[in-house]
Amino acid sequence: MFGSLTDSFKTAINKIRFADDDKALKKALDNLKKSLLKADVHHKVVRELIKNVEIETKRAGIGKENFLKSLESNLLKILDVGGKQGFVFASKPPTVVLMTGLQGSGKTTTTVKLAYYLKLRKKKVLIAACDLQRLAAVEQLKQLCEQNELDLYYDENEKNPLNIAKNALKKAKEGLYDVLLVDTAGRLAIDEELMDELNSIKKALSPDEIFYVADSLTGQDAVRSAVTFNEKLSLSGVILSKYDGDSKGGVALGIAKQTGVPLRFVGIGEKAPDLELFIPERIVSRLMGEGDLATLAEKTSTIIDEKKAKKLTQKMKKGEFNFNDFMEQMESMKKLGNLKSLVGMIPGLSGMANQIKDMDLENSSEMKAMKAMISSMTKKEREHPSLLNNSRKRRIAKGAGLSQMQVNRFIKQFNNAAKMAKKFSGKKGMQDLQSLMGGQGRGFPR
Ligand code: GDP
Repeated sequence: MFGSLTDSFKTAINKIRFADDDKALKKALDNLKKSLLKADVHHKVVRELIKNVEIETKRAGIGKENFLKSLESNLLKILDVGGKQGFVFASKPPTVVLMTGLQGSGKTTTTVKLAYYLKLRKKKVLIAACDLQRLAAVEQLKQLCEQNELDLYYDENEKNPLNIAKNALKKAKEGLYDVLLVDTAGRLAIDEELMDELNSIKKALSPDEIFYVADSLTGQDAVRSAVTFNEKLSLSGVILSKYDGDSKGGVALGIAKQTGVPLRFVGIGEKAPDLELFIPERIVSRLMGEGDLATLAEKTSTIIDEKKAKKLTQKMKKGEFNFNDFMEQMESMKKLGNLKSLVGMIPGLSGMANQIKDMDLENSSEMKAMKAMISSMTKKEREHPSLLNNSRKRRIAKGAGLSQMQVNRFIKQFNNAAKMAKKFSGKKGMQDLQSLMGGQGRGFPR
């Protein structure tokens, strides 16, 4: 999903030569600027980012390392606007969430995806059908909820969405639901009537969260409407939909920067499981082409059994994530669907997310090479990646029919990714996995 942005960064990074002079830096910055603009990042955001990267790289000494470090920290600064991350439960259930957005943005679909996401994490979720504006919205919700075994509150005899919302809240309380998701009305464009309706529901329900679903395909329009919704409603989170499509990716940076509201999730397909947590550090890691094992582990842990998931987190936390765990993850990935979005999380494959077609991953030359390398390792090496010294790497290269450079690159990427995984599983990721397992504490990250 971040394919084009990741590609832009890579191209710019490659422009920095080891000569490390002013000219090389300028070339890299120019290139970065061009590709960011092409990825639909707002020009003000681009200008500021470029300026900061330039100043910081010069201060630290021109060179690839410093350029990368500065780019990474500035991207993080843009995306990490503070506020909540992931799904945060209220101290007293039900957690009430208003789902808002313009018509066609993907609001109804996203409501179902979020309900499904929470259901997988063993939460009891009720959806309230309060979008009486779009004729088919209630019917659409009925079908989607039935397909995905989700609870829906609707009332076809009631014409006032406010009453439906109030009754749904009553039902959620009586039924001891953990979460109430309210699908509100949209419009083709922002108008006062809509804002009045949303504000009256807000007043009556005192929601814990107000999420705005932004269609990433609409680029700068998505940013502008998010800004207006935020002014009128005080949003607590944005969910970017359709990030799987031709979206250029830059819109994520624009929304975070211009609204100051945290991005909480991204939609990456039309089906119920196609929703992903948005955690800035992990996204930046993916943008920089470093992969994101923590999110991958989280996803796979919803389909592997609890014991295994727990063991895996503990291993990551201790920095003991090894090649066997890696292969196991790749295997379970097959069950997760939307492979394309997962590819970007795998170290070493992150650059290919754009080119790959879902079914091709298994047969891709990168995947084959990876498998060949791992199967050329001894049992001990697979369990203890730190054993891999130069002579072992040479042997593996020979066994896999690859160059030593390819092996070195893969192992380096694997080690970096394991380091990242350790960092994240120690903090936010760990909590995440715990709550995935129906667990202790009701908190998702932060
Ligand atoms: P609403 O009017 O905002 O409630 O919009 P819908 O939820 O009906 O979504 C509009 C269209 O966008 C539908 O065809 C959805 O299937 C599609 N859609 C929503 N989210 C995504 C997404 O993340 N990826 C893709 N590819 N399509 C999406």
